[in-house]
Amino acid sequence: MPPLRPFARALHVARRIPSRSVTGLHLNGRVITRSCSCSAPHQLQHTVTVAPEAATKEQLNPTTADPPTPPTDHRTLAQAHNLFITSPYSPGSPLILPNGAYVFQKLQSFLRAQYPQFGFQEVITPIIYKKSLWEKSGHWENYAEDMFSVQGRGATGKTDNAQVGEDEEFGLKPMNCPGHCLLFRDEIKSYRDLPIRYADFSALHRNEVSGSLTGLTRVRRFHQDDAHIFCRPDQILEEIEQTLKFVGMVYNTFGLGPYKLLLSTRPKDSFIGTIEEWDRAEKQLSTALDNIGTEWAINEGDGAFYGPKIDIILKDSNGKEHQTATIQLDFQLPQRFDLQYQASPEELEAGSQTSMDSGLDASLRRPVIVHRAIYGSIERFMALLIEHYAGKYPFWLSPRPATVLSLNAEPEVLAHVARVQSVLSGLQAHDVRQLHPSASPRPLPLSTIQLPIETDTSARPLGKKIAEARLRKYNHMIVVGRKEAENGSLSLSLINQPNEEATVEILEAVIDRKITARELSKGVNVPLDAARRYFEHLANAFM
Ligand SMILES: [Zn+2]
Repeated sequence: MPPLRPFARALHVARRIPSRSVTGLHLNGRVITRSCSCSAPHQLQHTVTVAPEAATKEQLNPTTADPPTPPTDHRTLAQAHNLFITSPYSPGSPLILPNGAYVFQKLQSFLRAQYPQFGFQEVITPIIYKKSLWEKSGHWENYAEDMFSVQGRGATGKTDNAQVGEDEEFGLKPMNCPGHCLLFRDEIKSYRDLPIRYADFSALHRNEVSGSLTGLTRVRRFHQDDAHIFCRPDQILEEIEQTLKFVGMVYNTFGLGPYKLLLSTRPKDSFIGTIEEWDRAEKQLSTALDNIGTEWAINEGDGAFYGPKIDIILKDSNGKEHQTATIQLDFQLPQRFDLQYQASPEELEAGSQTSMDSGLDASLRRPVIVHRAIYGSIERFMALLIEHYAGKYPFWLSPRPATVLSLNAEPEVLAHVARVQSVLSGLQAHDVRQLHPSASPRPLPLSTIQLPIETDTSARPLGKKIAEARLRKYNHMIVVGRKEAENGSLSLSLINQPNEEATVEILEAVIDRKITARELSKGVNVPLDAARRYFEHLANAFM
């Protein structure tokens, strides 16, 4: 089974398309959306066939003469942790199991927690829109064959009392930008309101050909950590710089990298706006790239006709390169949706409107849109992480942070196993001995760190249970016997935890003593409340 598709091929595909399909401003096929962060290049794979030698030649910055060992495919690795399945009843739409949903939601909530410090506001937008919206955005003309369409209630003319307009054809959205333009347009904006940054985790659908569908990487239904920044032209530099810092922070947290940045500039022949306007925008992008200090290169002439972009190319632990994040400037959608804001005194004094502002009153200007995604497709990013961690997930992301094994079947031991599970999961405070069965449930605080702690109280020999815990790759194994039940403690072993040294330091800090090598191999005796505090530390240290 093939692993994630290397970036080299995506780059090659992206380079070949413009020369084939751009004729003046009329673009055929899917080119109109190819560079948007809402349109990962892997979606183009089936449109162009690339010879393997050509792909190799395009390899960016190869690190070794020998081909890297291919990682185990994410689909195989995902089986060990029960992350997702696929079904012939919905090809290309993975069905995410509870463990996979846990990882997926951790990825979402991690970004959600960061959004306020970068000024993003989350929005919720429709899955289906009328064909007329897709005509306005240009998708119906350029992207229709990749979209699913659905019929409104009165479409057949057989439904009584259908409202006027309900019989229109609808399209399932392949990207969020048009919906965000509708949100922006809802109220008249002043220059002081900008930038406005909308983030959206909505499901997206693209009608990929069935032969190309694979696991989490080539799908028909997926989610992006999508966002659109509406800003003034003079705000581009700061927005791009902040976005690049955001990307760096996220990839560092996951231990991903190194990565390089690729700036795609104005196409030679077909572009909207003037050369001066492009030069100004590209200058802001290159200044932002210089200021960030990460290695970057120019991909001359490979920008979309509607704006320059920055691609983030990640090198994985096996030396393969993947395109993940994209930052795409867009001068076109603001015109198509007639987006505008009241100009600032400086803009009014300068007097000059750009070619983007044509048709607007002299006091108005058009914003620029920045499409940006940091993970890209969350499903695809998950596949990358599955291969990156190879079954050894950091605790905060792990669907199997710990399992509690009973040493025997004595009632006191089994009761303690249940209590350990409840306290470590975050469901019960350690100082509450037993919840009264008739007590009404109380709402748990939103800040509670909930962990999927499992148990094994089967009557099998302990050796068998330990072997299985190792096989299922829990980060921690906890053993509870009569001694632990009597003194309210547990025996904790790290069996599959990355950054083990730093993790042990956290545990030592919590229990306030050094841990010996013998304890590490046999299990550390830890009071139950300390074990819970240790887990809370780990979850927030992103380890
Ligand atoms: Zn977009």
